[in-house]
Amino acid sequence: MSASEISIRVQLPDGTVKELPAGSTPFDVANGISPRLAAAAVVARIKPLHTAAPSTATSDGDTHGEAAMYGAEDAQAERLVDLNTPLSEDVALQLLTEKDADALKVVRHSAAHVLATAVLELFPETKLGHGPATDSGFFYDFYRPTPFTPEDLKLIEGRMAEVIARDQKFVHEWEPREQGLARFKTENDFMKMHFIERFTKPGEDISLYRNGAFVDFCRGPHVPSTGRVKAVKLTNLAGAYWLGDEKNPQLQRVYGTAFFSKKDLDEHFAHLEEIAKRDHRVLGKQLDLFSIQELAGAGLIFWHPKGAMIRKIMEDWMREECIRRGYDLVYTPHVARVDLWKTSGHEGFYSQNMFTPMELDDADYRMKPMNCPFHILIYKNTPKSYRDLPVRLAELGNVYRYERSGTMHGLLRVRGFTQDDAHIFCTPEQIEDEVVACIDFAQATLKTFGFADFKVELSTWDPKDRQSYAGSDDKWELAIASLDSALKRKNIPYKTIPGEAAFYGPKIDIKLVDVLGRLWQLSTVQFDFNLPARFELEYVGEDGERHQPVMVHRALFGSVERFFGVLIEHYAGAFPLWLAPLQIGLVPISERHLDYAKKVQQQLQNAGLRVELDSRNEKMNAKIRDFTMQKVPYVLVMGDKESEASAVSVRTRGRGDQGSQPLNDFIAKSLKLVEEKSTDL
Ligand SMILES: [Zn+2]
Ligand SMILES: [Zn+2]
Repeated sequence: MSASEISIRVQLPDGTVKELPAGSTPFDVANGISPRLAAAAVVARIKPLHTAAPSTATSDGDTHGEAAMYGAEDAQAERLVDLNTPLSEDVALQLLTEKDADALKVVRHSAAHVLATAVLELFPETKLGHGPATDSGFFYDFYRPTPFTPEDLKLIEGRMAEVIARDQKFVHEWEPREQGLARFKTENDFMKMHFIERFTKPGEDISLYRNGAFVDFCRGPHVPSTGRVKAVKLTNLAGAYWLGDEKNPQLQRVYGTAFFSKKDLDEHFAHLEEIAKRDHRVLGKQLDLFSIQELAGAGLIFWHPKGAMIRKIMEDWMREECIRRGYDLVYTPHVARVDLWKTSGHEGFYSQNMFTPMELDDADYRMKPMNCPFHILIYKNTPKSYRDLPVRLAELGNVYRYERSGTMHGLLRVRGFTQDDAHIFCTPEQIEDEVVACIDFAQATLKTFGFADFKVELSTWDPKDRQSYAGSDDKWELAIASLDSALKRKNIPYKTIPGEAAFYGPKIDIKLVDVLGRLWQLSTVQFDFNLPARFELEYVGEDGERHQPVMVHRALFGSVERFFGVLIEHYAGAFPLWLAPLQIGLVPISERHLDYAKKVQQQLQNAGLRVELDSRNEKMNAKIRDFTMQKVPYVLVMGDKESEASAVSVRTRGRGDQGSQPLNDFIAKSLKLVEEKSTDL
């Protein structure tokens, strides 16, 4: 054996190279740097330094997939390994600590092993499916004739704490495949046998992990020992058929989540609670904003007066802004002949998303899933010259799309919705300015409605997959270059996603970030090389020749319904003054202050403010409470002192009693906040 065979080189992320005896582990490497790093390390990422050939298998990526859990590893690829894996060749090595998201996944998958350990100790008759990490935690599938109860989950959680306290090492073992199969067969574990048969080949050794008496068929990696699973909680229980087939036994999927610390775990559940409190379906009912009516059908929204007021404000703002920015407003029908959908291509490519046709005496008709063909017909109705361009047609257009029963979700996923849709027809030279203007408009929209933060993605084509895209190379290159330089001109950071464009053109997606840090896809600026060709759109150029205009689809709210849902959750129903359907609640202290309250009501209404007087024969505090429950920005209380001084006593949402002030001052201040679309009160 030569010296080079018994020592290996380990290259660290900072470029330093360590020479170690072959068989050293990532833990040894960490320990050599500092014992503190060794204690903090969770798992290691390695990549062989001398790869023989480019790797084709993927070691990461499909990390939830069964193949990733069980299949043979690609020894050439970058991959995660246990800290106690003996290293036998030169590698680039990175030690992952709590700072790395991949390390958290390893903790969560290890927690799934702890769960299975606890379940087998408490319910030895249980058979095991599989237990991967997910984006938010982990699960394990179990087969047991008697279903688990919520009490069982508590019991299992308690036993998991014991398994963690034992701090059992996760030991990686190998076993000849046939021997492993025979063992799982005696244990009657049909699911483990299935995974082994499916993901390993005869003659191979299978990869097993042992902690204490518990052994699982798994490729790893795991944390060094069960004690490293520090904060874990089971969350829920769901039924699923084995392999998704209802003829198969029903499995019980136990979900849980794990974090590096109790603090992180608590924050996670506080965050979930906050999300639940802000659920637009709950608030929509509580604040009487909208409903979905069983008798009318799923996914169809009824806007109640208060929701309708907010919608009116949104739409008024959008229409006025369109006019100010050089758009022309149009209205188009909700249905059209199938012939139109054939010309546009929707009948062929999109019909599974459309409502089925209606047979009338002259032809078949279909509800519109998009407004584009209608705006195209308006463009085409008169000949256009380059002097007419750009043509910008905007509509708050109702569209109808078929979503499967059971897939609808409040305002977010519906069958009928309103797009703030516009189509821009322009010359190639005008594209960049038009895109810049669209981005400006999108930014103004998000800012006005109270979203400070957004993320931008540019979806481009995959030029290697040429046949999947409509339009010439020139057009694609020009369009991508214009989107690119428009974003650069606006100095907006963005992520380019190759291969994500629709077949008919590249696009910019703008995702807003809400108050809880969630991303929502709303605004889109989408190029289209397909429809102008299908409808043979033209304009006469400066050269007197006929040319095809460039077409851009753009929506800023995206869907008015969906944007409204996001607004409800972002503000938790406590809308800023300019959007609040009811801005001011009036509470006379007693009967004798009713006349003064009516005068105040009249003055506020004359000033253009939305106000409601509670003249019921109820206690003052009950009236204040009712307005507070409705999240009304201001409640004005009026008694003797106020009526004598032409004043009001102001209670501001979230801040309580602000004392008495002259009515005129209150009106002036409120109008200023509305005018500025301020989020302050
Ligand atoms: Zn595992
Ligand atoms: Zn369109």
